[in-house]
Amino acid sequence: MPLARNVVKDLAAEHGACQRPVQLRRTEIDTGYVEQVLIPCGHTLASVCPPCAERARILRAAQCREGWHLDREPVIDPDPATGEQRALVTDRAEAQADWDALANEGLDTAELDERIGELDEHITDAGMRGNVLPNRPRRHRSTRRRQDAAPLPRRAVSNRTVGKTYTAPDGKTFRPSLFVTLTCPSYGRVCEDGAPADPDTYDYRHAARDALHFAALFDRFIQNLRRFCGYDLQYFAAIEPQKRLAPHVHIAIRGTISRAELREVIAATYHQVWWPSTAAVKYDGGHLPVWDEHTGTYLDPDTGEILVTWDQALDAIGDGDEPLHVARFGTRFDAQGVLAGSKDASRCIGYLTKYLTKHVGDCHQVTTDAQAAHAARLADALRYEPCSPTCANWLRYGIQPKNARPGLRPGCCKGKAHRREYLGYAGRRVLVSRKWSGKTLADHRADRKAWLTGMLGLPATDPTRYTWEPVKPSDPDHMPNGQRLLHVVADRQKWHAALTNARARASGETSPNLSAAGTAA
Ligand SMILES: [Zn+2]
Ligand SMILES: [Zn+2]
Repeated sequence: MPLARNVVKDLAAEHGACQRPVQLRRTEIDTGYVEQVLIPCGHTLASVCPPCAERARILRAAQCREGWHLDREPVIDPDPATGEQRALVTDRAEAQADWDALANEGLDTAELDERIGELDEHITDAGMRGNVLPNRPRRHRSTRRRQDAAPLPRRAVSNRTVGKTYTAPDGKTFRPSLFVTLTCPSYGRVCEDGAPADPDTYDYRHAARDALHFAALFDRFIQNLRRFCGYDLQYFAAIEPQKRLAPHVHIAIRGTISRAELREVIAATYHQVWWPSTAAVKYDGGHLPVWDEHTGTYLDPDTGEILVTWDQALDAIGDGDEPLHVARFGTRFDAQGVLAGSKDASRCIGYLTKYLTKHVGDCHQVTTDAQAAHAARLADALRYEPCSPTCANWLRYGIQPKNARPGLRPGCCKGKAHRREYLGYAGRRVLVSRKWSGKTLADHRADRKAWLTGMLGLPATDPTRYTWEPVKPSDPDHMPNGQRLLHVVADRQKWHAALTNARARASGETSPNLSAAGTAA
């Protein structure tokens, strides 16, 4: 006989209801009336909550579709600043004036540095985008182009974000957009299953470093593309692994560029990692630097000498030195023109969102021994590779990581990039430019909710009428998960019936983004 509890779970999944609903207590301020409200957990991984992950994927697909073929510039009107936000920026202005005055006199600014840092954090917390001042890079690196990279013509970048229109002989107009896939270079020949033909010569170190710096390389590519095309080109990109476990990126681009031009930009794009050298292992095994409480630094275990700090190590990189790593895309790429509303467009959006509900490392199933060995070798290569300036692995090479603190051990960095499920890429899976659809993901979610409440003829709830608080397991009104699921299933059933009715009434009027399957607000 089936286990009743599992049947409830299956039923919830069938109805597209969250598997781990969160319980909130909602109190109407005027009347004191208390209600229990269950909201979806909102997780994006299918291994945690399949229905929520699927809803998140559908939302991304809607965001992708809405921005891809825009024929008007998206309107982005930030909300006017609140009183609190204006007050914070005023404080920041005063702190800056004091700082400048002290610095002019050559006096110590340490206290004000701290104050300014705090204010900048408050400014971000208060819901403002960006910084008052641009981040100044501390070091100046030569911007001379590498000799081994082709030069790239540069144009002034205009504000335009919408692609060009083409007119066919019969007068019809087209505004084609582009679907591009970029991959990493070859690290050695691979077999059908993605495992290397010769594991001993496969360049795991290069593969590990390319994965670690893939997001930075992508940024560089977009920058170059904008300068090359001369307009504020917009993209929706998804990063996922290939079978050989190297990252690649699918990009929906608004507007179109020829293959020849793309090839030129790809060939000219590189990202240099100006980090200290990791050529010599200085500390290994049980022979590791020790933390000194008094100075707050790491010391050599034998001589007690203070290890080189991160800033000192960076300063020591000279003009004649080579960067630690130069990341580039492979020369093979894929590009196809796509027209709005076409079958191709839907297929590409499918590609773009296919793996978003999975961890990078779970996108391809390991079925052969060779694949398992390949994944293990890549994880080994990533173990001691520094993932960031704060990575514990720098100690292995005799350098104190940036913001060093006690308890750091090479090979045990907590950075996500080292973990098996990330394959060296710990960045965001979806990268969307700011003027893609002119909306945030929250705006897209609100659109769907508004459509649903409109369809059902529900009144909009006024958020200021209620207070909300989470219900803790120790509270008397706390519901166990099974009970929550029962409620959720009952709710979904009611909704589904109401929606079917509403659809029947309003047949003819359909939403562009909602499928017939249930969609939660
Ligand atoms: Zn959920
Ligand atoms: Zn690390």
